[in-house]
Amino acid sequence: MLDTAIKLITKIEENGFETYLIGGFVRDYLLGRKSSDVDIATSATPKEIREIFQGACLPGEDYGSVTVLYKNIRFEITTFRQESDYIDHRRPNKITYIKSLEEDLKRRDFTINTICMNKDKEIIDLLNGRCDLENKLVKSVLNPQEKFSSDVLRILRAIRFCTTLGFSLGEEEKEAIIQSKYLLKNLSYQRKKEELDKIFSSPNVMMGLSLIKELKLEKELELKNLNKVKPCSQMIGIWTKLEVDDIYPFSKNEKDMMRSIREILKKSPLDAYCLYQYGLYPCVVAGELCGIDKKEINEAYSNLPISKQQDLDITTDEILEILNIPKGSILKKIYQGLTAGVLKGEIENTKDDLKKACVSLYHVLD
Ligand code: ATP
Ligand code: MG
Repeated sequence: MLDTAIKLITKIEENGFETYLIGGFVRDYLLGRKSSDVDIATSATPKEIREIFQGACLPGEDYGSVTVLYKNIRFEITTFRQESDYIDHRRPNKITYIKSLEEDLKRRDFTINTICMNKDKEIIDLLNGRCDLENKLVKSVLNPQEKFSSDVLRILRAIRFCTTLGFSLGEEEKEAIIQSKYLLKNLSYQRKKEELDKIFSSPNVMMGLSLIKELKLEKELELKNLNKVKPCSQMIGIWTKLEVDDIYPFSKNEKDMMRSIREILKKSPLDAYCLYQYGLYPCVVAGELCGIDKKEINEAYSNLPISKQQDLDITTDEILEILNIPKGSILKKIYQGLTAGVLKGEIENTKDDLKKACVSLYHVLD
């Protein structure tokens, strides 16, 4: 990825524009971590970038950035700029393209995100980001109070970087966040959730949660059940315990999953029927939340005699025929009885045994 990124910035440089790798990409590279995207800062304007990469630019212009797909990697190319007149404590109203890298660095959020690499792989560190990186510190560029109040998303980004990188938050930054936290109400739930998702899916999530508590953000983020949360390697497990389904925008899948996990948690012990009914994943998450080993659940799941309806060696039509009854609620009960019997190991999953069991169940239920 680095070599492709270097090729790309060299190409922009060859067209006469100062260009650097920057942001998360350089930060993660220096930390030996894998990066999700490549951030590039350049003196070329978006129009000039589009001319250089013609067919490779993805549609849409986001605040002076161009996304280029080059050798199958996404590059976020952003023109050096100054930002001012923030609207709603989130977006700059005014963007001015500039030619100075140093000025561009000053509009960025944290020093660890301002370290640059040039086409010769040399590090350019005008704001001492490397020192903070080595000290594992998240520090604001310039005045923290100003930074957090002009764009309140930076509060959640700060917590996210501390959590995912295992860094500490500077003392002045903590103070400034406490002062600006009331502005979080300006941030859309969608944006809040995107950052919280990243915090909750980090293996270091408990640190993120304790930072949220330390900064007293529970109320602003409407996370009233924060103290109920238990360590969980799955983000959905954390959201389940927080019980904010009606506040944050969850997909239908996420909502169904949280509902299932809650039902499983109420049903302890986690038995074969539960595994069959809900499937493996929600049971593993519920298991983790109540301290049951994942291996144990995986093993129980792989030992299930049946894992889906079609596995039962009898159909509803066959049951109706054997018992000579019309469709109705009794059929459902018999079907469930057979399924439970097979899962408990009381009935063999063979046509003969199921037929016999279905007659006995009918007599008991009738
Ligand atoms: P990652 O890509 O790992 O999520 P990142 O730091 O690269 O982290 P991006 O959203 O890709 O984050 O942004 C790229 C760079 O743009 C950042 O490193 C930072 O320098 C700058 N940046 C992004 N968002 C903001 C912001 N809200 N305020 C100031 N600077 C920002
Ligand atoms: Mg990035």
